[in-house]
Amino acid sequence: MGSVGAKDVPILMTPDGRRIDGRRWDELRPIHIVAGPLRQADGSAFVEWGANKVMAAVYGPREVHPRHLQENHRAIVQCRYNMAAFSVDERKRPGLDRRSQEISKVIAEAFDSVVFAEEFPRTSIDVYIEVLQANAGTRCAGVVAASVALADAGIPMVDLLPAVAVGKVAGEIVLDLKKEEDNFGEADLPMAMVPQSGRMVLLQMEGHMTRDELSKALDLGVKGCRDVHEKMKEALRTRYTTTDAGAEA
Ligand code: UDP
Repeated sequence: MGSVGAKDVPILMTPDGRRIDGRRWDELRPIHIVAGPLRQADGSAFVEWGANKVMAAVYGPREVHPRHLQENHRAIVQCRYNMAAFSVDERKRPGLDRRSQEISKVIAEAFDSVVFAEEFPRTSIDVYIEVLQANAGTRCAGVVAASVALADAGIPMVDLLPAVAVGKVAGEIVLDLKKEEDNFGEADLPMAMVPQSGRMVLLQMEGHMTRDELSKALDLGVKGCRDVHEKMKEALRTRYTTTDAGAEA
């Protein structure tokens, strides 16, 4: 357990299989998605997922900046994932650190593989993800928010892109890790999936699992993604069956 004293490690799993917040191994935290809350963006979404609060805004297809990135036969997808300085307990240095750059890159690549980029040559689809409050799983909440925002912007895509993290905590494979589980657990495996085909477009792992555990974790993640997908569709249905999704005039 490194330099962390035993007294500092919370009880992550009770003998009857309850997690630190009372969930079972295969339960998601509560998820609430609002599509289209920002008036000035081409598309937007706000996601509350457990204690995570994430806003996404999409602009485009529009002129490419910087210009030299422009591609003649397709649009490019650019993404900026940022964690607000006030989003975590400990003071986070403002701005794009290496972690944010890496997350921005993998999310941009995930969306690049699902948008019909050939329909918009020489343009950029710009995705902004702002984490306002963080409690583990923010890249997944960011993908979900950005995906709903892209749909809200009318960008044609193969499908929505649900995402979730699975992991290993106190020896058990569990769905949707919260902060303590992420910090003190044995493994964290965020993923994003195209529901139609089951194709994985984002898959990362920190920590250790056996091959059997990995297989169980992937199955659990697929099930989790399907449940998140339902919530994304519901948010878009709500947006387009009400006259105004709460955006101010
Ligand atoms: N975190 C933090 N400060 C940082 C980066 C992360 O406090 O500079 C916290 C935050 O709650 C985040 C969690 O650690 O959600 C897990 O971070 P990770 O890098 O695993 O990414 P995430 O799970 O958010 O996609």
